[in-house]
Amino acid sequence: LFVTFEGGDGAGKTTQAALLDAWLAEQGRTVVRTREPGGTEVGVLIRDIVLHHRGDVAPRAEALLYAADRAHHIATVVRPALDRGDVVIQDRYLDSSVAYQGAGRVLGRDEVRDLSLWATEGLLPDLTVLLDLAPDAARARLDADDKPFDRLEAEKDAFHARVRAEFLELAANEPDRFLVLDAAQAPEALAAAVRERVTALAEA
Ligand code: C5P
Ligand code: MG
Repeated sequence: LFVTFEGGDGAGKTTQAALLDAWLAEQGRTVVRTREPGGTEVGVLIRDIVLHHRGDVAPRAEALLYAADRAHHIATVVRPALDRGDVVIQDRYLDSSVAYQGAGRVLGRDEVRDLSLWATEGLLPDLTVLLDLAPDAARARLDADDKPFDRLEAEKDAFHARVRAEFLELAANEPDRFLVLDAAQAPEALAAAVRERVTALAEA
């Protein structure tokens, strides 16, 4: 079972991934919780480039760096875990690239998606939870948590509007893979909705 969490910065992906991890572990499942960019040693180096040189990296180079991180992560961490029968819970995956590089950087949805599918030999999640939140609400939440250096500050409002709209459109195009939740809800309510969908998947 491969579950990914998507959405803008400050939407609560990391929190929800942790809650799902804990719940599955209680049920005796072996869970690998991981993230992109930076889910491997090589990936941490790439994460450093894309986060600390954002703005100086040409958009196509940025897209290729995310794809390189993803290719290595899927080949060395995620596929082996899925082959063992573990559950993989991942903070961001290819939909983030389509939203940020495809729509945010205007490189194009199909091009970026194809690049990512080439990088991962076509691996798609069984479930993608989209935590949808207005950029203003996300910014207020990150400020309250005192989280600095964030894309919400580094990019213009129009960038975030494109990213959010693209996530929603991706979800509308693949309703079977996506669960879209209003991330303004309380963490426990969101977690319950995620558990319900994961239970339904496991029974299917
Ligand atoms: O979710 P996380 O904090 O790990 O994301 C790191 C940063 O990289 C975020 O600011 C996010 O907006 C950005 N990002 C991106 N393109 C991606 C994935 C993440 O611009 N494909
Ligand atoms: Mg996070």
